[in-house]
Amino acid sequence: MDIDTAIPSLIPEDTIFSDFLILDQSVKGRRLVYLDNAATTQKPLPVLLATRHYYEAINSNIHRGTHHLARTATEEHEKARIRVARHLNAATADEVIFTSGTTGGINLVADILALSGRIGPGDEILISTLEHHSNIVPWQMCCQKTGASLKVIPCHDDGTLDQDAFEKLLGPKTKVLALTWVSNAFGTVNPVAQMVHLAKEAGALVLIDAAQAAPHFPIDVQALGADFLAFSGHKLYAPTGIGVLWGRADLLGELPPWQGGGEMIKEVSFEKTTYNDLPFKYEAGTPHIEGAIGLAAALDYVDDIGMDAIHEHENVLIRTAADGLSRIPGMRFFGPDDRSGSLSFLIDGIHHYDLGTLLDQMGVAVRTGHHCCQPLMARFGITGTVRASFALYNTPADVEALVESTEKAVSMLR
Ligand code: PMP
Repeated sequence: MDIDTAIPSLIPEDTIFSDFLILDQSVKGRRLVYLDNAATTQKPLPVLLATRHYYEAINSNIHRGTHHLARTATEEHEKARIRVARHLNAATADEVIFTSGTTGGINLVADILALSGRIGPGDEILISTLEHHSNIVPWQMCCQKTGASLKVIPCHDDGTLDQDAFEKLLGPKTKVLALTWVSNAFGTVNPVAQMVHLAKEAGALVLIDAAQAAPHFPIDVQALGADFLAFSGHKLYAPTGIGVLWGRADLLGELPPWQGGGEMIKEVSFEKTTYNDLPFKYEAGTPHIEGAIGLAAALDYVDDIGMDAIHEHENVLIRTAADGLSRIPGMRFFGPDDRSGSLSFLIDGIHHYDLGTLLDQMGVAVRTGHHCCQPLMARFGITGTVRASFALYNTPADVEALVESTEKAVSMLR
């Protein structure tokens, strides 16, 4: 097939291989084509070096130490927090809570809202059909604890949310809207600005799951107007096990603490404990220090390239991939044409798992299955899809490999 190789790569190919060492390898005798970026991204050398430097030069537990290493590690960790705040345009770095990832952030919010007494029997928590299990199950658990009920915004056949139904579902009983910005399964980009606005007008608190938004475009939490936003470092070129929960300082200040332990306290006696200020109130225990430092390095890396440039580059690749794949008979895409990050498809008569397995034989890494979105798969009457998902280091040659390998696999499976 003809892929427009005139489309430039975002970063030169030799830089890709020198920055992302893992990509410079063969799988089954073919160049590795990594298109599973919605699951996790590869890490550029500056991120690897930052975490290595941490262990080689400054490893120490942070915050209470008086010695040089403890002070240096604390400074670097808190610089990372400021770096994240700058990336999100947060009003203050105190609004940046380091978590284990998106899942950790959403569970934190669902738990503290349940504990706060702000949600009770008869109240409603609104999510959408597009949600990842991480933005479903914590709210089901929150409903069990509070007596609230879970409501779900339906989606159209093109994988976009039904905005009329959303407006009808919103009401005085809606206490929380928990919504993904971008669907990891279909790549649908929700009109979050408008939805946040309507939910706030209805008096609801809003949490945005930005796991699939943060890697692909700039985020300005002040402009967005939500109350909470969560994302994972590992999908944004940073290490695993580090994530961010951003929350409005006034709100987090009022809400109860979550996990108890070191760091989150001011004073402890057997009779009474007083809690620390933000952000430490929500960071019990020794944090993922090198993860936060690695995340800051990853943000430097993407901001040097520019999130807008990354967005545009990936969109061109996705559109080119969709064009190429659309020529395969029996091709069915999920999600709207203006998708972001992920391209999901099925081919008539071919099981997604079989296709994924054959693509792997040809060196092309895609993900198959339900993508942790079983209710969404049920809505479409399918058990899963094949998902190719893109990152800043993908090239037109990767798209060409995806399309050609899929064509070949289809001819083998039919
Ligand atoms: N939400 C979305 C939209 C996701 O894509 C993912 C990861 N696939 C998550 C939440 C959970 O992220 P993590 O496993 O990093 O906590």
